[in-house]
Amino acid sequence: MIDKVKFQRDFFNSNVTRDISFRKKQLHILFSLLKENEKQLCKAIHDDFGKSEFETIATELELIYKDIRKALKQLSQWSRKEPVSTNLLNFPAHSYIQPEPLGVSLVIGAWNYPYQLSIAPAVAAIAAGCTVILKPSELPARTSAIMAKLVSENFDPGFFHVVEGGVQKTTELLQQKFDKIFFTGSTHVGRIVYEAAAKHLTPVTLELGGKSPAFVTRGCNLKMTVKRLIWSKFLNSGQTCIAPDYVMVDNKIRDNFLEKCVEEIEKRSYGLENNNYVQIINERNFDRLAAMVDPEKVYYGGKMDKEKRIFGPTLLHNLSFENKVMEDEIFGPILPVIGYDDLDAAISKVNELPRPLSCYVFTNNKESEQKVMQGISFGGGGVNEAVMHITNPNLPFGGVGNSGTGKYHGEAGFREFSNYKAILNKPTWFELNLKYAPLSKAKLRWIRRFFKF
Ligand code: NAD
Repeated sequence: MIDKVKFQRDFFNSNVTRDISFRKKQLHILFSLLKENEKQLCKAIHDDFGKSEFETIATELELIYKDIRKALKQLSQWSRKEPVSTNLLNFPAHSYIQPEPLGVSLVIGAWNYPYQLSIAPAVAAIAAGCTVILKPSELPARTSAIMAKLVSENFDPGFFHVVEGGVQKTTELLQQKFDKIFFTGSTHVGRIVYEAAAKHLTPVTLELGGKSPAFVTRGCNLKMTVKRLIWSKFLNSGQTCIAPDYVMVDNKIRDNFLEKCVEEIEKRSYGLENNNYVQIINERNFDRLAAMVDPEKVYYGGKMDKEKRIFGPTLLHNLSFENKVMEDEIFGPILPVIGYDDLDAAISKVNELPRPLSCYVFTNNKESEQKVMQGISFGGGGVNEAVMHITNPNLPFGGVGNSGTGKYHGEAGFREFSNYKAILNKPTWFELNLKYAPLSKAKLRWIRRFFKF
């Protein structure tokens, strides 16, 4: 492992990656590689956990293409030296900010969108001029293998290399000194990564999880609310970090909301008989989800086929925050619905929990919209929409507090892998002399004055 990192460090130190045209060329290679192998990529993920070609292209590959296209278009602008004004104390200098690549980066991916969560951070790293060691999640083994194969066949390992493996391999990697670590995964493992990075004072981006709430208020467009909420929750069988984890609904419309949810689920025929319904990633997660379902709280669903790892959409009701399902992130197709009488009290309750990755409000009332959007701290979210904010590359994506640190996609990703070098350039034909001995009260008075400009 030491060799691999050393190899990349030597490559980085050769300064090849500082050349913008080199980075663009690598992004073009990556783009073509993914396009040409779409069929194989879709097959691998389908074999791993039943994700359809439609979903793989719509929720993984197209997001990567979008990031690559944007980087190719705007990279020159992002990398430009930015002149900034200079204060009077430094007259007659000029000042500028120059982005430079952080260096050798480690990207650790999660399993639920295995291509997107591994390759999109790598795109940001490449755009910024970093070298990349990518460690995809080991759980979808075929997707991990195909990424390793395609990258090794098409890139110099000094620049871009995939290391396959689980906890042991990641632990070995984390012992090495990187210049940047970008991690996507659970809050629990995020802490392990953060601690390991701290030993080398390596900057990190942590894309973590949490319980993301959705609020449904009286007077919302209920039909559209249900349609969008159900889609966003059961997409990828609920195994989406920004899926609404639970719904807080006004008690006045709760029963109507639940009935409409059932209608919508049945209309889209999610579940055991649908070939496009994504499997739960493994048995351990299947059992974890099954243990979250209290049969007495099931409003709809609860159907499962353990052998096929298919977990039907399940709605839970008559719940409070004390129920087991409200303890941890669900990360599966179980939707707890909690009624509220007072929106302010519901917001206060959510604020007692760790800060979520996302938060959504479905409402036609401006005041309610503002209360939720301003009253809760979260990474990103939506009004009358859920999950879709990730598809806009102009919106930085990431969490806050327990749900993560740092943002990416588009320019935000470029910034995560860059050091913004700040430079003051002063000619030698003039010197103010105030800072030099002998020190005096008069000089200090002048210095105070100059600091004001
Ligand atoms: P995970 O934390 O179990 O694994 C993530 C990565 O860490 C994998 O590559 C894994 O091999 C590695 N890993 C696991 N245990 C480790 C250890 N002890 N030491 C070092 N490395 C270790 O997460 P997961 O199960 O792959 O993904 C699910 C979690 O990720 C959920 O909490 C979800 O919300 C979160 N997530 C967040 C985002 C986001 O963008 N914020 C996206 C997807 C998933």
